[in-house]
Amino acid sequence: MTGADETGASPGERLDHVRQWRAGVVQAVSPPGARDLGPGYVDPALLPVGLLRDAYDRALTEYGSAALSYGHNPGVSALRETLAARAGGGRCGSANVILTSGTSQALYLASTALARTGQVVLVEETCYDLGRQIFTDCGLAVRRVRCDESGMDPHALEAALGELAGNVAFVYLIPTFHNPTGRVVPLSRRRELVAAAARHGALIVEDDAYADLAFAPGEIPPTLAELADYRGVLRLCTFSKTLGPGLRLGWMLAEEDLARRLVSHGLFVSGGSLNHTTSLAVAVLLRDGDYDRHLEHLRERLRERHDALAGRLLADLPEEVALTPSRGGFFLWLTHRGGRNEAELLTAAERAGVLVGAGSRFGVTPWPSVRLAYSFNPPAVLDTAAQRLAEAWNRPPPAVLESDHALHKP
Ligand SMILES: *Cc1c(COP(=O)(O)O)cnc(C)c1O
Repeated sequence: MTGADETGASPGERLDHVRQWRAGVVQAVSPPGARDLGPGYVDPALLPVGLLRDAYDRALTEYGSAALSYGHNPGVSALRETLAARAGGGRCGSANVILTSGTSQALYLASTALARTGQVVLVEETCYDLGRQIFTDCGLAVRRVRCDESGMDPHALEAALGELAGNVAFVYLIPTFHNPTGRVVPLSRRRELVAAAARHGALIVEDDAYADLAFAPGEIPPTLAELADYRGVLRLCTFSKTLGPGLRLGWMLAEEDLARRLVSHGLFVSGGSLNHTTSLAVAVLLRDGDYDRHLEHLRERLRERHDALAGRLLADLPEEVALTPSRGGFFLWLTHRGGRNEAELLTAAERAGVLVGAGSRFGVTPWPSVRLAYSFNPPAVLDTAAQRLAEAWNRPPPAVLESDHALHKP
């Protein structure tokens, strides 16, 4: 570990990542020396490179040329059966599961195959910005629906559905470990939202990217899809947040008719399974228990990181900063209720050598807010970052220059 800094990465490793970025291999890289709490990525050091190397080897040995052929249109049956069994709720079988190239692609598919240009997607006031971008790219309009601390307000949803009668493409919700707020929608609210959408015959798209990352898995309420018995809810899951975004592998859970309709599209008929070879490698990991062992390890690492960041912030931050500890996923959400605006918060953080995600990027925020990802850095970095943030936000606000707050995505 000689030369390793608090990130635990040696200078060689850091340089290597920068080099991969310059060479056009990876999407983004943190500025050198930055304590970057901006990106919603898992730390590269936690990506299971050895596990995947072995899994591809085993899959190619086991399936031979079938691994390099066009795959079964909805995805390989063995993996779909496993994912259906893990989804719970009893009514879910492999006919409900379609493999995808990740949730971004599933959102694109929903926005094109299940919607008409000009229709409206109903979203939470604050939600995943890149999801919104996909909807508008596909010619859909986005309408924000009022929220409270439990999630989308079911009365406001009902009012919007009534007003837009039939012109709603779907309702987009992130009920578990929300991006960006980290929130978990409680069971009673889940039931109300499912009932409101069902009364109007509106489809819910449930983005469940962080479903497998509960610190205490038993404590999370059933999914909207389970509560709806898989009727009227399209649930999107991904291996991006657990095994690695480069795999481009996810899955959706849909009622059988809808699944059949989607798989009849030319995209599947022409190309077969949306990510065949990788799905075989991941199927091997699930079958042999490697995925669950990896998840256990990853959840523990994320919990340590969460506790390091949240613990220090709660101890050191001024009273007017509100922060609710998260129960899983990647994010903490901070709101400042002491008269500081967002630009002042960002400028102070930046000058203290810490990058954070601007709350306004994700929509309307009732208070100036920032998103902090604890997924990307080890506990020691998060502890230092939290101390610096608390110091910076305890001081009088700095003058805001026309400085560039553009942070690295996503
Ligand atoms: C990360 C993320 C995605 C992107 O998922 P991919 O499977 O990598 O395309 C989608 N939705 C939310 C809420 C996310 O946080």
